[in-house]
Formats: sequence, structure tokens, C-alpha cells
Amino acid sequence: MSKKWVYLFREGDATMRDLLGGKGAGVAEMTRTGVPVPPGFTITTEACNTYYDVGQQFPEGLWDQVIAAMKDLEVQTGKTFGDPANPLLVAVRSGAKFSMPGMMDTVLNLGLNQATREGLAQLTDNPRFAADAYRRFVQLFGKIVLGVDGERFEHVLDEAKGHGQRQDTDLSAEELTKIAETFKGIIREEAGVEFPEDPYEQLREAIAAVFRSWNGRRARDYRRINKIADSLGTGVNVQSMVFGNMGNDSATGVAFTRNPSTGDSAIFGEYLVNAQGEDVVAGVRTPQPISRLQETMPEVYAEFATIAKQLEQHYHDVQDVEFTIERGKLWMLQTRAGKRTGAAAVKIAVDLAHEGVIDKATAVQRVDPHALDQLLHPMIDPEARKTATVLTTGLPASPGAASGKAVFDPDEAELLANTGEKVVLIRVETAPEDFHGMVAAQAILTARGGMTSHAAVVARGMGKPCVAGAGELRVSYADQSVSVGSVTIRKGDWVTLDGGTGEIFAGAMPTVEPELSEDFAELMSWADEIRTMGVRANADVPNDAEVARQFGAEGIGLCRTEHMFFEGDRIDAVREMILADTVEERRAALAKIEPLQQSDFEGLFRAMDGLPVTIRTLDPPLHEFLPHDDHEIEALAAKFGADPRRVKIKVESLREANPMLGFRGCRLGIIYPEITEMQARAIFKAAVAVKREGVDVHPEVMIPLVGHLSELKPQEELVRKVAAEVFAEAGIEIPYLVGTMIELPRAALTADEIAGVAEFFSFGTNDLTQTALGLSRDDAGRFLPLYVERKIMADDPFQTIDQRGVGQLVQMGTERGRSTRPNLKVGICGEHGGDPASVVFFHQVGLNYVSCSPYRVPIARLAAAQAAIGDAKRDK
Ligand code: ADP
Ligand code: MG
Ligand code: MG
Repeated sequence: MSKKWVYLFREGDATMRDLLGGKGAGVAEMTRTGVPVPPGFTITTEACNTYYDVGQQFPEGLWDQVIAAMKDLEVQTGKTFGDPANPLLVAVRSGAKFSMPGMMDTVLNLGLNQATREGLAQLTDNPRFAADAYRRFVQLFGKIVLGVDGERFEHVLDEAKGHGQRQDTDLSAEELTKIAETFKGIIREEAGVEFPEDPYEQLREAIAAVFRSWNGRRARDYRRINKIADSLGTGVNVQSMVFGNMGNDSATGVAFTRNPSTGDSAIFGEYLVNAQGEDVVAGVRTPQPISRLQETMPEVYAEFATIAKQLEQHYHDVQDVEFTIERGKLWMLQTRAGKRTGAAAVKIAVDLAHEGVIDKATAVQRVDPHALDQLLHPMIDPEARKTATVLTTGLPASPGAASGKAVFDPDEAELLANTGEKVVLIRVETAPEDFHGMVAAQAILTARGGMTSHAAVVARGMGKPCVAGAGELRVSYADQSVSVGSVTIRKGDWVTLDGGTGEIFAGAMPTVEPELSEDFAELMSWADEIRTMGVRANADVPNDAEVARQFGAEGIGLCRTEHMFFEGDRIDAVREMILADTVEERRAALAKIEPLQQSDFEGLFRAMDGLPVTIRTLDPPLHEFLPHDDHEIEALAAKFGADPRRVKIKVESLREANPMLGFRGCRLGIIYPEITEMQARAIFKAAVAVKREGVDVHPEVMIPLVGHLSELKPQEELVRKVAAEVFAEAGIEIPYLVGTMIELPRAALTADEIAGVAEFFSFGTNDLTQTALGLSRDDAGRFLPLYVERKIMADDPFQTIDQRGVGQLVQMGTERGRSTRPNLKVGICGEHGGDPASVVFFHQVGLNYVSCSPYRVPIARLAAAQAAIGDAKRDK
């Protein structure tokens, strides 16, 4: 006996998606639950795979099973395949496990030939309908099975309709018959074959064509882009036809059980009267909203609405359905989970939970954390987008949409912004000294750099739209312009960016503000009830801290003190400190910075009243704070009244071949302890000051880039010494922690030693990834995207944590650290803290919290909750 290759719809169910494909499992499940579905059968995905294994032949036994199943259809429908007196016609529909639009269309009305067409005309007393069905069949079979260019058919049809003078429904039986004959001539010419008259030959060829389509160019490309395995195979559904083109009491349509863009609970969809197949999607005529059906065919609508609800209840989710009405009788042809926007996903999940269809945990799981990105940022007005043309596309580096006048210089950006102008900063790439321009801009656009380039990281931190690495852009600082192809945008011209898609548009496009709905708040509160891991934010200034708190951050996991160095005039004092030759000079400069830092910290502490604030001591290499071109160096020297040549030599001497591994992190504070001392004093004086105001302050001082315990120790002692002094002076004691970042492999390996001193760890997974993988993210742009494309690496390790490698260091570091200090608090503050997949991993490793940019806090909260639900499921 041969294998079972064919399942009647009544033999399958929803669980059989692998074997029957999504469409086959869907129609089987509907059949099983009593929804009206035209009878049919599914040829399994295994049959498709075996077809290839045996050299593009039908597997043994398949054809016999198809014939047997056709007999069953004949019994169920009372019609006979190929019988002119009462012809059975079928649809042949492909359907893989995952929907693959555009891979292979459906052949309708199969089984028609000269004889059955005439039979159908007599039987239905509707020659026009028969001719229309035949015309469609020849066209679809010619295009899909025989591979004739569909344009040629469309051209004939368009001609017959007088190029839009008439509609398809205006064509008479005679005209349609003539068109079908012309089609057959085209087929003869292009494919070199006669149109097959034998229905079983038609069926055999159509099934083989579906199998072949699995390995067509379009399908392979689609799978590559969407990461769908080539080994799945497609199912083939053969189903008796129902006809939406039998007159004005017939129709075909598609609908969602709820609105897929807003989540509104009313049925949302469109239908076309007297139409068949893809007419709605193809836009042959303008379809009518489904609400019209309620007026024109109230009983059919009522039945449809009941089935829609029933399907939703059954699948516990919104369904996207296809249906056809044949002379007033409703038939369902497809059901699947409906794709939806982020906003709709939230509303639908919350509504379904309120309706008791799903529980809260399921609601929390239903929303893709990535989809929240859409909700938290302004978007381009969907209406305006419809008619806009995209100039070029770069990397979607930081979501949100914004418009502004193009500027190419950070100083200019600041200047214009101060006069109330909206600007978009366009650079080849950005550097730390561009920071003020980035702050001033509505959005940032770079021609170079990846998802973790300076521009991308800083923009995400500020929640500002950024498109990075738009390689087609030719930026000219000399001309103050950027061009793509023949389009040039000059300084002052308006541009619009969509940082969520990477699209760039010329001109100002209207944007719409996100509204954080009550549903959103409710869903997040459910997530908070469920999750066990904390979520903090990376925030450097009070304003960011406030935003973070509104988004639900439970503290600050990383304040990069150096970001405060660029604001206003203080960069001058910082430069003075760096250029100092003696400790005294350095102290003098530091004394200017201290009160500024103190007031920054006070602001942060106030914003985070009651919550912990982790402040990192100075981290970046010093040359990042210095100007590099001669002109700027001269200006700086003039400001300090110094000799420009000496300043230049000093700047030169600070240049590093490999700054990432150079004089930075705790190395700075060890060689220049006065820097750490100043920062510690600013922190504790700020803490004392706000404490006096009644703020509940929890400072945590964090030493970066430690590799050896002997590096941490002196810094820790210094911080504690300063704390003691400040507290003694003030007569106030404030509890605080001293900890370290774990961002070098050696630190992870010796975490047990380090935890002897450190009261907390925060994994700096950006540097840990760089140092563990031995690649610099500033230089990885040339090969890393290609690595990901060629699947040498599954993901960009700077976006999603490399679990096997870097992740192991995180796990080991955590375990070793806690072996010394069981109550060690462990968090992470790299870019990965806002990446859902990484958040799940950190939960599994048992971290106390993740810290991410303010706008990603809700995403991390949701991902952490989903991770906790995953645990609960595994435990069952
Ligand atoms: P796709 O995967 O592209 O949606 P389908 O197999 O669902 O392809 O078919 C597309 C359309 O063809 C359906 O929406 C429906 O209008 C029509 N169709 C499919 N099967 C039948 C059938 N048995 N009877 C009538 N129309 C059908
Ligand atoms: Mg289609
Ligand atoms: Mg479909």
C-alpha cells in the first residue's frame, strides 16, 4: 500500500499545518466545525517533497488517491467531473505552512472545456456566466500552469473593454467566448501547445504546476527574505467551485473579523458583486465595504457575521477570511490569523481578554514587542504616504518619523534650531562632537554606518528618528547638499525620514503623534504583573529620565556622564582638563566641571525619586572630546590663550590606533584619579543636596572596563573615601553601592574575584561583544551585513546577543559573581537590553534587570513578561 498523500477536508484539522499547509488545515478545521466550505481535498506537503525526491514525478499512489478523492467530491456535490450534463468544476489552490503571497496563484473553474462549458450554460440557463467562467479558466491556466505572460491576456481584455470604457461585467457571452478563443491562440503561440480538453489532464498539469511553483524563483526569493525553510514543501488544495459570478445575487469578498489597522471590533472587509477569485484584490472594479452587504443581503450578512465570530472564538484570534456568495448562499473559502498593526495588536489582545476569549497571559503573548515601536513614535500620516515616492532607503536605525530642513553641519543645526526651525541633520556619519547638532535636529540621516553606529545609538537613546547607512546618498559638505540619482537636496530643502522603515522622502510630510491608549496601559500592567525581571533605562539627562519613568522604567541602569560634557560651554572646561600638563592644572579645570555635573546628577536623582540610579564614571578615550581639524584647534588655542602648535602636538599625542582598546574606561581614572574623585564628589554632593529636599535617592557608582580586580579596587576605595568625606561634611549618610561593568572577557572569567569588591555587575554587552568576538563595531560595517546575509552569523551580534558565545560569558560571569556574593545584583546595559530576543535570554540567565533606551522600556517590559510566561509553560 502506498503512503497517504491525500486528505479529504473532513479528515484534517487545524493541528495539521505542517502536513496540509496553512490553507488546507484552515479549510479542514472549518469543515470539521460545520462552517459551510465547498468540499475538497488536500495533497500533502510530503507529496510535494517526494515529487522532488523522485525527479519531478508524482509519487507512487498519488494519482490513484487523487482520482478516488475526485469520486468522493462527485458524490458530495452530485456533479461529475467532465460531464457536460452536470459538470463538476474545481479550484486548484496552493498552500504552504506559511502564507507566501505571490508565490503561486489559484486556478479556478478547472474542468471546463468546449463541452462542459456548453453544458454549464444550459444547466444554469446563463450563457454569459459559463462564458465568463471559461474565459477566466483559460486565462488562469494559460498563465499559471502553462507559463504564458499574463500581460498578453490582460491586453486583449483591456482592448475588449475599450480601455476602461466598459467594465468586465458589461462583456457579453459572445464577446467572452471570442476572448477565450483569442487566449487559446496566444497559448498556442507562446507555449506551443493546444489547450487541454481532458479535465483529468488539466488537473494533473495543475497539480504538477503547484509543486513546481514551490521551487520557482519568486518562491525561493520570498523564502530567503522571510527565513522560511526550503524543506517545508507546499500543499495542493483541490476544491469544488462555488461561483460568485452568477449574477447580482452572487459575490466574492475578503474580510477581517476586526479592523486590522485600528483593532476596532467591527467586521472589516470588502466584496464585489458578480465577481470571482482575485477580482477584489486585483481591483478590477471598486469593491464595496462589507457594511453594504448588511443592507443588500441581510440574511447572508447575518450568517457571515455569526461565522466570523464563531471562527474568532474557535481560534481565539482575529481571522482573515475569504468568502463567496453563490446565488444567495454563503461559502467560506479560507481562514487564517489576520496580520495587524502594532496599535491593532494591542487593542485586539486587550479586547479579547476582556471578552474572555483569551486570558491575560495570552494577551501579553499576542503582541510582538517589536510592534510596539510603531506605537511609541510619531508616524508619517498614512494618507500622505499613499501618494509619496521614496527617495532612497537606508537602515531603520531609530524609529519614528520627522521632517525638517536639510542641514549638513551640527553647528548650523543648533543655530537654526535655536531660531525655531525644524532641521534634519545629514552627515556621512556622526561623531561625538556632532552631539549638539543631533540634539538640535528632529532627525538624523547618515550615508554610512550600521544599526549600532554612533548616529544610531545616540538617536535611539534620544528617541529621535534616524536612518543610517543610506548608501545611495552622496553627501557633499562642500556643496552643502546630498544627492540620490538625479535628485539633489540642498541646505534648507525639506526632507522627511521614517526611521522605522529606513525610508527617505523629499519634502515635508505630515506626521501623526502616537497616542498611548488605555489599552496599551492595561496590557503593560498585565505584563508587569507577570514579569520577574526588572527594567531600567539608559538615560543621561533629567529629561530622558522623566520619559523613561513615564514608560515604566524602574531606575536608571546607565548614566553616561560624558554625554553631559558636550552640553553648552562645558566642553571648553573638559578640553582644558584634557590638555592640562600638570595635576594642578587638571584639578583647576575639573573644579569648573564639578558643579555642572552635580546639578545634572541632582536633576537625575529628582526625576528618579525612590528608584536606583547607576552612574558610570568617565569611559570614552579622551581624544573624542578634542577637535581634530587645524581650524578648530587654532580656535581652541586662542580661547585658552595657548600656543596652537603646542595644542596640536597634544591632540596628536592623544591619537590612538585602536581607541576601543586604548586609554579609556577605568584606565583613565586610575592614571588620573582626580577625574574619578571629582565625579564621585559631584555624585555624593548631589545625593546629599536632593536628600535635603526630601528626595529618596539611591546612587550606584559604576566603574567601567575593569579586567582585573586590582583595577577595580583602587577606584572603589577612592569612591568610598570621597563618599565618607562628603557625608561627614554634610552630616548625612546615604546608602549607595559601588559596582562595575563586566565588558571584558577577563572580567567575566574572574567574576568571582571581582564580586569580592563589586556590589553589583552590569554587563556592557556592546563592548563585551566587541572584545569577545574580536571585532570593532565601528569597522564591522564592511563585512558584518554580508555575514548576516550569508548566514555565517544568524543575526547582527550587536543587535541580538550572541547567546552561544557572549551569552555564555554573561551566564558564567553571573554564576561566578554570585558564588562569591549571593545577593549580587546583576543587570545589563548594552543595546541588547531593548532587543526582545536578548531580553528573553537575560531572563533565562537570571539577571535582575535589563536597562535600555527610554523608548524601548515598554518593549523590554513586554519581552520580559513573555519570557516569564515561557518559563511557566516549560515547567508544566
Ligand atoms: P491566495 O492564496 O492567493 O489567496 P486562494 O487559493 O485563496 O489564493 O484563492 C484566491 C481566490 O480564489 C479566493 O479568494 C477565492 O475568491 C477564489 N477561490 C478559491 N477557491 C475557490 C473555490 N473553491 N470556489 C470559488 N472561488 C474560489
Ligand atoms: Mg492571491
Ligand atoms: Mg486566499
